[in-house]
This record gives sequence, structure tokens and C-alpha cells, in this order.
Amino acid sequence: MTPPAAKDDCLFCRIVKGEVPADVVHAGETTIAFRDINPQAPTHVLVIPSSHYANIAELAQWEPGAVTELFATAAEVAESEGLGDQYRLVFNTGAEAGQAVFHTHMHVLGGRPLNWPPG
Ligand code: 5GP
Ligand code: ZN
Repeated sequence: MTPPAAKDDCLFCRIVKGEVPADVVHAGETTIAFRDINPQAPTHVLVIPSSHYANIAELAQWEPGAVTELFATAAEVAESEGLGDQYRLVFNTGAEAGQAVFHTHMHVLGGRPLNWPPG
């Protein structure tokens, strides 16, 4: 399958295209990573595929290789942010789980102790 077209009304597609500014910390072939505008920890970076899929399940179905890229990018971000092996990776999937932007994204959180269970 060819990657789906970017959606004009999708905030993260607009960040991928450079139409909306973002503090980019990593730009790869199929993923980009940028700082969350409302950080919940000293390090809070979002890692996203450049292609538009609503959530991680759709990405896994249609571009499984991109899922691997997301995790590899997260590991690079954790390294470059000095998080060592102390960080959390999160995909909120669905509004009830806290998803507000419907373009697949992984949260990379670290730099402070993180509680469990989450709210
Ligand atoms: P979700 O709640 O969908 O899992 O995560 C969406 C994240 O996107 C939130 O943590 C929110 O702070 C972040 N966010 C929303 N709008 C922007 C924006 O314009 N720029 C950046 N960098 N992050 C954003
Ligand atoms: Zn999108």
C-alpha cells in the first residue's frame, strides 16, 4: 500500500510538512520527533511517522516497518536526552484513553520519577 496522503486538517501532518513550527529533536526518513508543547515531564518528546494513520493499530496494520522505526527513534531520543534506561513510552489510543490528536504518536517521557498506575 502507498502511504496515505497527508491530511490538511491534521496538526501533526502540518508539522511534518513544516507548516506548523515544532521543536524538532530528530528527523529521519519515516519518522520525526519533536518536543510536546505541554510537557508532562522534564523530557516529553513525541515520535510520529510521517504518514498519516489515526493510531498505532492502523500503523501496525499498514506500515509495520514504521512501527520499528518509531521505537528505534524513541531509543535514540532517550539516549540524546540523557534518559539512560529510565523512561516511559506511551500511545494513547482513543479519546477515552486520552488521545487528542488522531495521527499516530508515541510519547517519550522521562527526567523524573513516573508513577504507576497512570490516571
Ligand atoms: P495525545 O493526548 O493525543 O496522546 O497527545 C497529543 C499531544 O500533542 C499532547 O501531549 C499535546 O500537548 C501535544 N500537542 C498538541 N498540540 C501541539 C502542537 O501544536 N505542538 C506540539 N509540539 N505538541 C502539541
Ligand atoms: Zn496526520
